Amino acid sequence: MASKSLEAFLEKNIAELKAQGLYNTIEPLESSNGPVIHIKGKEFVNLSSNNYLGLSTDARLENAAIQATLKFGAGSGAVRTINGTLSLHDELEEKLAAFKHTEAAISYQSGFNCNMAAISAVMGDKDAILSDELNHASIIDGCRLTKSAVIRYAHSDMDDLRRKAREARESGKYEKMMVITDGVFSMDGDIAKLPDIAEIAETYDLITYVDDAHGTGVLGGGAGTVKHFSLSDRIDFQIGTLSKAVGVVGGYVAGRQSLIDWLKVRSRPFLFSTAATPGAVAACIAAIEVIQSSQELQDRLWEHAAYLQKGLKQLGFSVGRTETPITPCIIGDEETTQKFSRRLYEEGVYAKAIVFPTVPKGTGRVRNMPTAAHTTEMLDRALTAYEKVGRELGLIG
Ligand SMILES: *Cc1c(COP(=O)(O)O)cnc(C)c1O
Repeated sequence: MASKSLEAFLEKNIAELKAQGLYNTIEPLESSNGPVIHIKGKEFVNLSSNNYLGLSTDARLENAAIQATLKFGAGSGAVRTINGTLSLHDELEEKLAAFKHTEAAISYQSGFNCNMAAISAVMGDKDAILSDELNHASIIDGCRLTKSAVIRYAHSDMDDLRRKAREARESGKYEKMMVITDGVFSMDGDIAKLPDIAEIAETYDLITYVDDAHGTGVLGGGAGTVKHFSLSDRIDFQIGTLSKAVGVVGGYVAGRQSLIDWLKVRSRPFLFSTAATPGAVAACIAAIEVIQSSQELQDRLWEHAAYLQKGLKQLGFSVGRTETPITPCIIGDEETTQKFSRRLYEEGVYAKAIVFPTVPKGTGRVRNMPTAAHTTEMLDRALTAYEKVGRELGLIG
């Protein structure tokens, strides 16, 4: 017998979500998460993955995963600090440090785990964290684990950040202070103003923390947003995921040797959650080698993004403030946005609606993630569907 209070809680809350049209049902893919996907026997142009470079189905990664699995097994057997650290984990961390132009790096089981691990390993109850209001959910949760004061600043508003940093410093209430930001913001595709953030951080002695989940493999010749702005020696924490452009799963923190040494003895997911699997780690190593060896996939990603963004604008749509391949198509009210996405689905295009409360009310959008693996023919199929549905709903002429 289930608990009565649990039953009542679930019934009420699920019904509420369903009434608001916010209850998400998941449709499993019957294929890899490539440029086209199969669901219930039907093919879709896929504009919803984070597989920016198409690496998740790259034969070099697949083979690396197979070979490592045959040599080291399916699982790593323990947490990193007992004896789950395989030579592969060390090799990945050396590769990541070189890739990020830092002294050292530590890897985790996911990007989400990085934020659970790294923020609370250095920030405590006498400290303060300045956090961009649009930061990712895992940053918000990571901040909650610290007992630090969390001071939100308006999105990419450098005057607001400077004012709040000064006030917090002058209050004399805090020992350490950190500023934390996404490198690329996932809902709009805009880039954090890292040169200003670095300057403000130096003025007010802020620890700098950049979560570059959507910048790695995309900006800075692949090395990410910090490299894009040539700030590798001025950012304390460069964290990121191995699950998006890198195409596999996992996360990392790159920074000075002393910081990484500390995280290896004090960050809880490193100490208390089993190490990433040999197959995943080997595939990540192969992916970083691919990204470092050639610009070809990144160039193709940006070409496809430019093609899609130009096509949408020519049809009369707005792609908002994006500066990266993330391509929001701004629709407006929540209901029309949901309907737009549903109609695209019926037309064979998989692109998710993103609405309030994930984005502000009235700024609903269908978010498109072009990749290096798409062809212009696939993007044309998507644009044709956008044109048809846009006319049908009276959004374009
Ligand atoms: C996707 C994302 C994460 C989570 O990374 P995973 O490897 O999928 O856990 C963390 N931070 C940001 C900013 C992200 O966009």
